[in-house]
Amino acid sequence: MADIFSKIAAGEIPSYKVAANDEFYAFLDINPVAMGHTLVIPRREVDYLFDMEDDELARMIVFAKRVAKALKKAFPCRKVGVAVLGLEVAHAHIHLVPMQSEKDMDFRKEKLSPKPEELEAAAARIRSFFE
Ligand code: 5GP
Repeated sequence: MADIFSKIAAGEIPSYKVAANDEFYAFLDINPVAMGHTLVIPRREVDYLFDMEDDELARMIVFAKRVAKALKKAFPCRKVGVAVLGLEVAHAHIHLVPMQSEKDMDFRKEKLSPKPEELEAAAARIRSFFE
C-alpha cells in the first residue's frame, strides 16, 4: 500500500503544491515551523534520504535548490534552512524552511496552523518564483 507522501505526489491526497517534475514533488508542510516550510520528496517510495542512490539523491538536491531559490524570493529570509528528520513519515523528504534565526529550525516548538487560504496563497507565491 502506498504511503501518505506517495499518495500526495500522485494527487490522490490533496496538497499545496509548490513545484514538481517527473521524479520529485514539493509541497507545503501542513504544520509549518515557519511560513513557507516546504517538503521535497521523490515520487519513488524510499524510506530514508540517505538510502537513495547517489545519482537520484544528487538530482533531488538540485531540484531542492531550485525550490529553495523560489522560497527565498517568496518569503524573504536570511537563509533557507535544510533539515532531514523522517521520524514521523517513512518516505524520504527534505524540509526547507525560510529562516530569520536558528529558532525557525526548532522542530520541537509548537507548529503553526495556517488557514487553508493562507497555505494556498503561500504555495501560489512560491510557484510564481519557481524557475
Ligand atoms: P518528519 O517525518 O520529518 O519527522 O516529519 C514529517 C513532516 O511532515 C512534519 O513536519 C508534518 O507536519 C508533515 N506532514 C505529515 N503529514 C502530512 C500531510 O499529510 N500533509 C502535509 N502537507 N504535511 C504532512
